[in-house]
Amino acid sequence: MSKIILKNERELNGMRDAGRVAANIRVAVAREIAPGVTTRALDLYARDLIEKAGARSAFINYPGPRGVPPFPSYTCISVNEEVVHGVAGDRKIQLGDIVSIDIGVVYRGFIGDNAMTVMVGVTDPKIIALVRTAEQALENAIAQAVAGNRLGDISHAVESTCKARGFTVVRDFVGHGVGRKMHEPPQIFNYGPPGKGPVLREGMTLAIEPMVNLGSHEVRTLSDGWTVVTRDRLPSVHVEHSVAVHEGGAEILTLAEEETR
Ligand code: MG
Repeated sequence: MSKIILKNERELNGMRDAGRVAANIRVAVAREIAPGVTTRALDLYARDLIEKAGARSAFINYPGPRGVPPFPSYTCISVNEEVVHGVAGDRKIQLGDIVSIDIGVVYRGFIGDNAMTVMVGVTDPKIIALVRTAEQALENAIAQAVAGNRLGDISHAVESTCKARGFTVVRDFVGHGVGRKMHEPPQIFNYGPPGKGPVLREGMTLAIEPMVNLGSHEVRTLSDGWTVVTRDRLPSVHVEHSVAVHEGGAEILTLAEEETR
């Protein structure tokens, strides 16, 4: 495995700035999610905010695997059975939907990457529990992102939180190191034993992103080459923060101004 890049204080400041931009846009786009709004309208709204912030989307034109065109949207918007990498289009948000928005920006040479899942008038207690569990899994995982712990402690925190409530975690997609590039080493699995993997060190910056399913953990990719859906078409939740590892604990880099008050 290639080496995990440690960031010095100047680089961490760059990550803080980029994280703040990504988080503010995440919260602003979340506020626009409502019945009747298309995913394309949300994506274009995000595009305008990204531009206004002096940043650019880290997602658009991201190279695809062999034979797949580059990613066509500014954000990833994934509704209900869509897990991650949803492509913006004509799909209209409906009452009862859950909508995951993933915002990745490049700002002054650094990446901010974060996601949240918004419930649109959801009343089904199973789906509410699914969303809350994914959020709790992320919180528990972040609590493990402390210097001296091991990477597997983060993975295990996600898996054990979800398993305890009867939900499954996606195995085919992972979190990642983040910095000047969106995807740096290491890969961060959402499952696995604690106490394994590289030791976490001061200055590591990680994008931790639980993807949690109501039904089976199995996923497939649609014919657009990007949109990942659950195989059983049951709902899936995606939440993500970029964090910095410190001696005393993790620092969340992707909190919006209104979330820090
Ligand atoms: Mg990510």
